[in-house]
Amino acid sequence: MRILVIEDEKKTAAFLAKGLHEAGFVVDVAPDGEAGLAATRASKFDLLIVDIMLPKKDGWALVEELRDARVQTPVIFLTARDSVRDRVKGLELGADDYVVKPFAFSELLARVRSLLRRTPARRSKLRVGDLEIDTRHQRAERGGVPLNLTPKEFLLLTHLAHSVGEVVSRDEIAEHVWDIGFKTDTNVVDVVVRRLRAKVDDPFKTKLVHTIRGMGYVLKAPS
Ligand code: CA
Repeated sequence: MRILVIEDEKKTAAFLAKGLHEAGFVVDVAPDGEAGLAATRASKFDLLIVDIMLPKKDGWALVEELRDARVQTPVIFLTARDSVRDRVKGLELGADDYVVKPFAFSELLARVRSLLRRTPARRSKLRVGDLEIDTRHQRAERGGVPLNLTPKEFLLLTHLAHSVGEVVSRDEIAEHVWDIGFKTDTNVVDVVVRRLRAKVDDPFKTKLVHTIRGMGYVLKAPS
């Protein structure tokens, strides 16, 4: 499951990203409304956490634009404001929930999970050939055989599956599967890809994880 956090306060953004990442989500962070909107156009997210007071474009305007464009991704508004009027406005604009700052991370996480449970079940299943990934229950199987993946391997597989058929670079994997802004030797990525392959591909005849030399990796079923 992939979550976009649109928040200009660096501390809050980092705290959210870290907590959500530890809870098993793939997290992207955008520092202002314009960047947030651009991110939603560039990638698919399962949930957006949107601060209201944002530079360039506030959270209300952002969600209004998304809904006008028929983007139905669930939204949790994050705000220091706590008036009934603001809540009503947010909900009218199509936010799905509201969390008032300061908040306990556990409370936010509970809202995130409850909102994701309400989204259609098909969203939580990804299929590539005979590989099936159940992101809600964090399980994967191939040809009906359960794959015993570590959380990192699962995140990596899910990330590749979200971009099925497209080359994903090592840097992008490092950024999404490890901490935000992870800048270190991407050999770490190769190591985890190798471990993932040992489980997802080695026991099977057809290979799904392919290396594109000098570019990265791509997950795809044989055509
Ligand atoms: Ca703010």
